[in-house]
Amino acid sequence: MDKKVGIIGLGIMGMPMARNLIKAGFEVTAYNRTPSKIEQLVTEGAVKAASPKEAAQKNPIIITMVSDTPDVESVILGENGIIEGIKPDSVVIDMSTISPQATRKIAERLKEKQAHMLDAPVSGGEGGAIAGTLSIMVGGDAAILERCRPVLAAMGKTITHIGANGMGQTTKLMNQILVAGNLNAVCEALVFAQKQGVDLNKAIEAVKGGAAGSWQLANLGPRMIKRDFQPGFMVDLLQKDLRLVMEGSDLNKIPLPATALIHQLFDSLEAAGDGKCGTQALVKVVERLAAVEVKQRD
Ligand code: NAP
Repeated sequence: MDKKVGIIGLGIMGMPMARNLIKAGFEVTAYNRTPSKIEQLVTEGAVKAASPKEAAQKNPIIITMVSDTPDVESVILGENGIIEGIKPDSVVIDMSTISPQATRKIAERLKEKQAHMLDAPVSGGEGGAIAGTLSIMVGGDAAILERCRPVLAAMGKTITHIGANGMGQTTKLMNQILVAGNLNAVCEALVFAQKQGVDLNKAIEAVKGGAAGSWQLANLGPRMIKRDFQPGFMVDLLQKDLRLVMEGSDLNKIPLPATALIHQLFDSLEAAGDGKCGTQALVKVVERLAAVEVKQRD
C-alpha cells in the first residue's frame, strides 16, 4: 500500500493522530488553518501543505479532523479545498463528527470527481487519540475501507464498518447519546453522595468495577472532584453533537426526552461562559441546583 497520507486539522485530536501516523511509518502531509501549529509536527517528520488542495494533490488518502459540518464542507468543497486537488480513485476519510445528511452530500460531490469518501468518526477522547486506541465507526464502501484499514489501524483499535456513507456518523451520534446520559448520571451521583458526606474517591473506587462502572465515571469523575475542568472534549463540541442528535430526532420523529434535557443543562453551562471547558464541567450545573460542590476530602 502507498504509505502517503494527508491530514487536515491539527487540534486536540488531529495532532496526536498525525503523530501516530508518522510513528507507523506513513509519510504525512499536514495542513492546519493556523499554520504555527504545523511547525512542531514538521520537526517530527511531517511535510507542510499550504492548503487542503495541495494536501489532496500529493496524497491518495486525505484525512479531515476539523470541528463542525461547515468546517468539513469548507476544507473539502471550499476554495482551495480538497475537491480542487483530488485525483480519481483517491479517498477522503472524514474523522470529524458532523451531520450524516451533509456527509452523504459531500460523498456525492467527491464521486463526481471519481473520488471516494469514508465517514469515520471516532470515540475514545484525547487519551485514545494519543494512545492510538480510538474506536472508529465507518460509513462508505467496504472495499474502500479495506484499502484504508492500515491508515485507520495506526490511529485506532476497534474499526467497524457500519454501512453506507452517513452510517458512521449516525453511529457516532448514538455514541454521543450514551455519553451525555452517562455523564449526567455521573454528575447527579457525585452531587448526591457529596451532599450526604460520602468520601467521593472511595465511592468511585467502590462502584467503578461493578454494574455502574463507565468510562465517564472512571475518567471524568476524579477530574470533577479535583476541580479540573481542562478540556479533553470541549462542552461546545458536545453541544454541536447534541444539536446533530436533535436534528436527527426531529427529522425522523424519534423523541429523545432525556437527551434533550441534558442538551439544555449544557446550555446553562455555556450561558455561564464555560463552553470551552471539558464536558466534566456539567457537574457545575447539577451542583448549582443542589447548592453543593463536589470535592476531595481534606
Ligand atoms: P479542536 O481541538 O478544536 O481542533 C479543531 C481543528 O479544526 C483545529 O485544527 C482547527 O484549526 C480546525 N478547524 C476548525 N474549523 C476550521 C475551518 N473552518 N477550516 C480549517 N480548519 C478548521 O477540536 P478536536 O477536539 O480536535 O475535535 C475535532 C473533531 O473531532 C470534532 O468534530 C470533534 O467533535 C471530534 N471529536 C473530538 C473528541 C475529543 O475528545 N476532543 C473525541 C471524539 C471526536 P485551528 O487550529 O486553526 O483552529
